[in-house]
Amino acid sequence: MRITMLAGGVGGAKFAKGVRALLRSPQFQRDHPDSALTIVTNVGDDMWLSGLKVCPDLDSIMYALADVNDTTRGWGRQDESERVSAEMGAYGVGWPWFTLGDLDLGTHIARTGLLRDGLTLSAVTAQLCSRWELGARLLPSSDDDVETWVELEPGYDEPEAVHFEEWWVRLRARVPARRFIQRGVDSAQPGAGVVEAIADADVVILAPSNPVVSVGTILGYPGAGGRAGVPGIPGVAEAVRETPAPVVGVSPIIESNPLRGMARQCLEALGQECSAEAVGLAYGSRRSGGLLDGWLVDDADAAALPSLRQTGLSARSAPLWMTDAETSRQLAADTLDFAAHC
Ligand code: GDP
Ligand code: CA
Repeated sequence: MRITMLAGGVGGAKFAKGVRALLRSPQFQRDHPDSALTIVTNVGDDMWLSGLKVCPDLDSIMYALADVNDTTRGWGRQDESERVSAEMGAYGVGWPWFTLGDLDLGTHIARTGLLRDGLTLSAVTAQLCSRWELGARLLPSSDDDVETWVELEPGYDEPEAVHFEEWWVRLRARVPARRFIQRGVDSAQPGAGVVEAIADADVVILAPSNPVVSVGTILGYPGAGGRAGVPGIPGVAEAVRETPAPVVGVSPIIESNPLRGMARQCLEALGQECSAEAVGLAYGSRRSGGLLDGWLVDDADAAALPSLRQTGLSARSAPLWMTDAETSRQLAADTLDFAAHC
């Protein structure tokens, strides 16, 4: 069974670990001896910082699948030190609020070196990932530089626009976003292998990742009430609409609570409501030009099932909190079972 999943960073990584655990279970291996997981990752958070190409979402997934991520902080590497960034700070270089650990910097230096040698981001990613036993293939959604920038509401004594990571990490999304701009997206192409991974999949899954700045910057997300949406990487949503595989999404919103992330601020910037139902409806049913065959919501949001079904979507509820390895694996199993029935 070829599973292709579209994901952002931390939420995507938790779900990816659940899918991998399921694929490695004896029962699943008996039923599906040749299964493979491909993860198409968001590149919108990527940036050039102090001359280095930093790819937060790619690295969150790589570190999590390699079991070297820092689960306490929720980002970066375990057993990290910060000598290099302290030294850079002493020179006044870099972002003081965006500390890059020494081990993490090793990744960024290696990546940048390979890019400077002329490799594409997807070739570089394959090389970096080959160091670990990830049990999944990671494909950047584009090999081109596409950066999510945030146009800020005026009157906050801040620049007109900041990189998404600056809005997220330094401003904690407290300064309202007027709109998101994916710099470079117009001329961007899908990353190597992305369209094929979607077209040739047996199942396509939209991970429970931020619907605007993770999945939306891959597939697009509509604006409402006169607000601009985000466009997505040209060609990827088309591949999702056309694949013969079932396409199911797992809601990143539970009880209108965007969990630990700040999905609410992102959805509000697009004039969209922050609920499992609204996100499912915004992605829409493939029967009417949307992206999904099925939308999985939390049991707490089961009241939304009838109105989701009215639009032609298959909809089901299940426990969506991934609190540990077992709940992530169970969610992966529920998602694949749902995909087989919708
Ligand atoms: P980021 O790129 O590191 O921000 O991570 P993602 O975009 O992949 O995921 C962040 C989003 O995942 C959050 O905004 C939440 O909406 C969602 N999320 C996080 N944990 C869970 C969980 O346990 N269950 C579900 N359903 N969604 C989650
Ligand atoms: Ca991210």
